[in-house]
Amino acid sequence: MEDVLFVNVHAHAPGEGVTLLDMGTGLFGGSSPGVFYSAGIHPVRLAESAPGDWEALDKALLREDVVAVGECGLDRRLPISLSAQEEAFLRQARLAETRGLPVIVHCVRAFPELVSLRRSGGFRMPWIVHGFNNNERILRMLLDCGFHISLGGALLNPSSNAFRVLPEIPLACLFLETDERPLPVRLVYEAASARLGVSLGELKRQMWINFNEVFLWKNG
Ligand SMILES: [Zn+2]
Repeated sequence: MEDVLFVNVHAHAPGEGVTLLDMGTGLFGGSSPGVFYSAGIHPVRLAESAPGDWEALDKALLREDVVAVGECGLDRRLPISLSAQEEAFLRQARLAETRGLPVIVHCVRAFPELVSLRRSGGFRMPWIVHGFNNNERILRMLLDCGFHISLGGALLNPSSNAFRVLPEIPLACLFLETDERPLPVRLVYEAASARLGVSLGELKRQMWINFNEVFLWKNG
């Protein structure tokens, strides 16, 4: 197999390789090579209850280069009730099911709630918890429930949870990202490759396979 591109599954600016750019429900430009989009309503946005978000999301999801719903999810730090957040998240997760799209999940201090939503709803599309940086118990809970896990810049810090638990994540369930950090995704890959003791080439190939299976399956 030829050398494949880096894949960054959650970012707010394009970079090296293939980028899955989070656009919220914002205005979309034209298509650009190497860039795919996720569209969703972040829980922070719910607190602002911006009118027109749901219509904008419906429209965005019709685009062929929108390959995921999100980021959306649950965040206990926000001044909006968890039940209101759950309702908005479920609505987006159901949209994702209808459109055959995976979901990029933002979750802060609400992992048991997230897992029970997944269990309650009969969902078949993959859910990817992005920016995971939590302990092994929570990781185990997510993996047992079939989640994918995406790790980011925390991998550059050897004392982070992300760095510590990385070897516990089956490679087929793993993704890598930069999120809002102005960080070349290559550095995240290099840190993961060193931590796992797998070559950079092998890691890139596996991430490429995962990306195609989870995000581009409709195109294949
Ligand atoms: Zn983000």
